[in-house]
Amino acid sequence: MTRSPVYMDNHSTTRVDPRVVEAMLPCFDREYGNAASRTHSFGWRAEEAVTRARVQIARVIGADPKEIVFTSGATESNNLAIFGAFEALRAKGDHVVTGATEHNAVLDPIGSLGSRGARVTVLPVDRQGRVDPDDVRKAITARTILVSLMFANNEVGTIHPVAEIGRICKEKGVLFHSDAAQAVGKIRVDVQAEGIDLLSMSAHKVYGPKGIGALYVRRKSPRVILEPILHGGGHERGLRSGTLNVPGIVGFGAALEIAAASMPEESRRLRDLRDRLHRGILERVADVRLNGHPTERLPHNLNLSFAYVEGEALLMALDDVAVSSGSACTSARKEPSHVLRAMGLSDDQAVTSIRFGLGRFNTQDEVDYVVDRVDGAVKRLRAISPLYSVARDGAGESTR
Ligand SMILES: *Cc1c(COP(=O)(O)O)cnc(C)c1O
Repeated sequence: MTRSPVYMDNHSTTRVDPRVVEAMLPCFDREYGNAASRTHSFGWRAEEAVTRARVQIARVIGADPKEIVFTSGATESNNLAIFGAFEALRAKGDHVVTGATEHNAVLDPIGSLGSRGARVTVLPVDRQGRVDPDDVRKAITARTILVSLMFANNEVGTIHPVAEIGRICKEKGVLFHSDAAQAVGKIRVDVQAEGIDLLSMSAHKVYGPKGIGALYVRRKSPRVILEPILHGGGHERGLRSGTLNVPGIVGFGAALEIAAASMPEESRRLRDLRDRLHRGILERVADVRLNGHPTERLPHNLNLSFAYVEGEALLMALDDVAVSSGSACTSARKEPSHVLRAMGLSDDQAVTSIRFGLGRFNTQDEVDYVVDRVDGAVKRLRAISPLYSVARDGAGESTR
């Protein structure tokens, strides 16, 4: 039996794994020291807990623990990487390269660099949502200081050719930042193999708590220098002042250790569930289009357009299934997703899209239940859609 509501919005956030909750609990009422307190055992134990988490996190991305800077999440990590690199490298150049399908937590800070005198190139993507590494190479000039391109997209799950882009950046001597909030703990990420200098992460996308994340900052070849945004006690090597969120950090470390240990098995299971969901919908519903890359895509992502059905209406009809249309951050604005538009979808196609994000706690029964609910809801909405009946009657008319 499926208990509703069913949560299938795991790109927005994830449930905290019970093992993570367990690991965090002592930090609230027993081991509550300030990790910066050097004069007593409460502080020492808190610092030990933070060090353990740093090791757990660094290991997952192939980094050194000293290269992990704790922040409040991927938004802050992106801001620190972008403003921090720009301010530190002003003397060297003023040009920044990014991609059209980036999260707003990258596009907005880069957009605001304009008022600080930056020049910005926003690279296009193909129909599947990928940036062409050749475009990256062509965009880089003598004044380029930073390339910021995400690891995997939060709406359509498309994975960029990150290693190739990293190689180009290294060759040209330009820093490479990647927002990996959707990738770390889900697919293999290795800052050495991919030539990444700055990498943003977030705990709440990997079954950890909200309000904690990290920025990986490379320490050798090259040693990356950033200008901090927050000034104060000089925590985190001076890059991010403020008392460390010890419970959050401990939870983040535990969450990533679990994710790394279970990754091969879990990604296979989620891919199977995702494909079952996709197949189930295709077998029962006509005029459905897949958004994103057919293979270079996160294993738990399924973004579909249902012709003639407005995503918002479908969301409401699916009142006991938690999914989203576009990204949660933009759905408040009710504009067609900038990601789908950049991939060449028309406004009409973009507003008919729904994102399913499967996760660790979804079951096969839930998937079958969601297929039923989607089938019923789409048929009901199309039955009352004048456009759909016109299209049906105009036999042979393609809706794709
Ligand atoms: C969720 C997300 C963010 C924002 O992360 P927070 O930790 O919530 O600030 C940034 N980038 C991507 C790709 C995301 O999916």
